[in-house]
Amino acid sequence: MKCYGYKDREGYPLAAWIWGHRLWAGQHWMEYLLEFLNVLAGFDYELGQGIKGASKKEYIRFARLGLRRFVFYDEHEKTRHPYDDEASRRLREALLQIVQTIDGNKQFVLETTRSLLRAFSAIEEQRSWFAKSLFPAHHNFLFWEALRRGATKYRGKSVPHDISPQELDAGITFDERNFFARGGELYYLMLSASTEKNQERRRFIARQLQHLLNDHNQDLGGLAEIIDKAWHSEGSSDKKGTVGWIPDPACPFYTIFTEDVETFLKADLDSLEKLDLLAHLIGFHVTLYIYHRAHPEATPERHEDGSCLDLCRLALLIDALEGADGGIVRGVSASLFREQEAHIEQKARDYVRQQVEAWGMKTKDYKDLDSMAQEHFNISALHGKTKAAFNRRVHALQEKFLHKEIDWNGYLNSYTELLTDLLLINFRKHFLGVHRKLSKSVGFVLPRKGPRARFVLGDNLLKAITLSNVAPGEEMSYDEFLERLYERYGLVVGLVQAKKSGLVNRQPINTQYYERNRTALLEKMKYAGLAIEYSDATAIVKP
Ligand SMILES: [Zn+2]
Repeated sequence: MKCYGYKDREGYPLAAWIWGHRLWAGQHWMEYLLEFLNVLAGFDYELGQGIKGASKKEYIRFARLGLRRFVFYDEHEKTRHPYDDEASRRLREALLQIVQTIDGNKQFVLETTRSLLRAFSAIEEQRSWFAKSLFPAHHNFLFWEALRRGATKYRGKSVPHDISPQELDAGITFDERNFFARGGELYYLMLSASTEKNQERRRFIARQLQHLLNDHNQDLGGLAEIIDKAWHSEGSSDKKGTVGWIPDPACPFYTIFTEDVETFLKADLDSLEKLDLLAHLIGFHVTLYIYHRAHPEATPERHEDGSCLDLCRLALLIDALEGADGGIVRGVSASLFREQEAHIEQKARDYVRQQVEAWGMKTKDYKDLDSMAQEHFNISALHGKTKAAFNRRVHALQEKFLHKEIDWNGYLNSYTELLTDLLLINFRKHFLGVHRKLSKSVGFVLPRKGPRARFVLGDNLLKAITLSNVAPGEEMSYDEFLERLYERYGLVVGLVQAKKSGLVNRQPINTQYYERNRTALLEKMKYAGLAIEYSDATAIVKP
């Protein structure tokens, strides 16, 4: 299997073998953007780094402990720690030395500054201060998720007054590899892989993002820097990290993503809106990536020779009618959403079966077979009880084989079943939810909670997609635009696309619903200022 990035071992979980290392359901949707920008900035705004043969092997992980403690750590902290109390107190003292006021109310200045920065909080949820993030309004707002080891177990009450800043930071770690998700790294790799042969596009994207993060909101960036620099310790110095990896780097789907990003970055938008829409675009791309690779016709050979684009084209019906048709289109769209989920799980099952078949050709020894599987899927890393139960079942199966109750083929089939059951536990828990969470967060699927999830195009996503397909100053006929949505992403809106995708035959609904759907999306785009319709009924997309 061809892969692109940094692969440092043989064993990975099942999902990684199909979708790369790694996508993780626990990851917040905004983190894909944050992680991507962190990696890019950590490579000094260069794509294509961190892989074999590149000039930079590791990216810098910005620690910025001073800044994040100042913004996020307070008396409401769920992971209070005496060391962080002390560090916070010292940091504030240092800042009070710097602050200048006319009326002398320095505390007020600190509190106001803190509120201002806190307003940029991007990820809070129920997280501890070290895992919270700021919206990347400026380069200096970027920092890597951290972890305080044993934060909840600390029993000591008092902190020695002569303790060094270094000791206060000592338990904070930035390199718990399996703690962090890697979605943003994967996106960095997708853009890098697809621009190996297009250095101009690669440089353009990197430069635009550098500009976006450094030449806007400079006052805020300066403020963040002053605060961060007021805290010095060894522990607060920057760390280094290596990227994960993606499969089948030649897949043309990655090129679609880079083309989108290139066009999108040309849009004339306020810097904060641009970053927000980019986060939507990334979530949309990663969701499509999951579906593309889960397509029943997808194989490494087809990703490699580019035929996957046609053979694995998706057919995702966008429900633009929002129930105005009595829910007919919605019903079809919902069934297509469920189908994607079924494809994802089927892909995982198929992978295990193909793997076991291939190993079964190499060996007729059940012990060899088992150790190949154990290594390939890194089974030793699984939960103890689950692992023990699996090993017990495999042992019982081996007994049957030894007593000639089953032959080698029978053994392989039963072993495949046991292995699939084992691997699907983690797969369902940590991977299957990725597409649901992402697609719902970016407005690609509704409702956020509850049954009948179906494909839609929320306002922000619609704008991001439009700006990714129509450059500033350009225009496109509405029908050409719909055709593009189908050709590039497999989105079905009108009757033309429904026919091409075969949906008309698969889902026997009256064809007029597709026409109404087409009109409904146009109305939405007109309302959002993304399209214009002339009196002679010609509609053009012109953001
Ligand atoms: Zn492909």
